[in-house]
Amino acid sequence: MELDVIKQVDPQVAEYIEKELKRQQTTIELIASENFTSKAVMAACGSVLTNKYAEGKPYKRFYNGCDNVDVIEELAQERAKKLFNVGHANVQPHSGAQANMAVFLYALKAGDTIMGMDLSNGGHLTHGSPVNFSGMYFNVVSYGVDENGCINYDEVAKLAQQHKPKMIICGASNYSKIIDFKRFREIADSIGAYLMADIAHIAGLVIGGVHPSPAGYAHFITTTTHKSLRGPRGGIIMCEDEHAAGIDKAVFPGVQGGPLEHIIAGKAIALLEASKPEFKTYAEQIVKNAKALATGLIDEAMEIVGGCTENHLMTLDLRKYNKTGKDIANILEKVGITANKNTVPNDPQSPFVTSGIRLGTPAVTTRGFKEEDMNEVAKIIASAVFSSDNELGLKNLKERSFKLCLKYPLY
Ligand SMILES: *Cc1c(COP(=O)(O)O)cnc(C)c1O
Repeated sequence: MELDVIKQVDPQVAEYIEKELKRQQTTIELIASENFTSKAVMAACGSVLTNKYAEGKPYKRFYNGCDNVDVIEELAQERAKKLFNVGHANVQPHSGAQANMAVFLYALKAGDTIMGMDLSNGGHLTHGSPVNFSGMYFNVVSYGVDENGCINYDEVAKLAQQHKPKMIICGASNYSKIIDFKRFREIADSIGAYLMADIAHIAGLVIGGVHPSPAGYAHFITTTTHKSLRGPRGGIIMCEDEHAAGIDKAVFPGVQGGPLEHIIAGKAIALLEASKPEFKTYAEQIVKNAKALATGLIDEAMEIVGGCTENHLMTLDLRKYNKTGKDIANILEKVGITANKNTVPNDPQSPFVTSGIRLGTPAVTTRGFKEEDMNEVAKIIASAVFSSDNELGLKNLKERSFKLCLKYPLY
């Protein structure tokens, strides 16, 4: 197979790809933004399409020889439009961040005011963080979450009236509740602002019908394709027809050069997979698994932000135990569980240390984990938190993680 081909040319890289495959197969992946894409998607991403330059849009390219990639990209566009029920889809963004950048370029001018969720409250860097272009070139107003981990929509409405942002951004990287897109649109309309819904995390849940859709509410919808959507790494922008030409121009030549047609082929395949009834079952199981994990953790005397989850993720709040996210993420790695440290609302620790751990279920659900498995995962996590200095205890926990992985082989 393809690994043998790499081995012949570059044994060093091949060795670490092989090790990475092993790591993915033998550890429990709870990073909420990760998933395991299908072999078909991976094959497309490793195909001859990587050789092709195709600047422009399907059938309107700046290069010749695009007949095949034109059809593939059009397939991806049409599938995205149908699945998300939108008028226009641009499938060229190389990533979620670049999808957002293109929307900003189209809808805003440098110095305009934007309003997004604060990074430490669950928002994304591209929603106005000072270290990101969105925070450097725009005047940022941020909203956060209350002590229950919920957006206070009245507060958002008040901030909107006060600061009159030109665009409001909803959608998050760490928010465990349902997002009320309708309410966001009402707030945007009350001040004549654009609404951008960044559904990078929840795209698969939206397709699967377990989270409301922003279609019909948001002027612009951006997403990644590699999180709950389970496709290749990349982004998509969707909008109604009136913004289509402007958005396309903002992607290319605005922020990108040639599109990655091999990745776009992977997106087309992932979107086809997501249109099958099995995907709806998958999305439903993601949420069931997250709820089972939350319940399991609470049963083990652990605390999660907001006390429950309504989607695919939750944040373990470690403040009560005087533990930090940084330490526990490292302990979890020792017991065969991969997760990331994350701030909790009003976190007393710095973003490099944090008091929380973000846990998500899209990846383990792809493997086949069910509710009873999540209950076992909860027990392993709780034991790891409580026995973090007991090396033998940790070794036993790692065995239990490994057993779960053996139960659900990957690739
Ligand atoms: C992951 C994420 C992005 C960025 O995606 P990249 O592909 O990493 O650039 C943007 N917005 C949100 C809400 C995300 O969670």
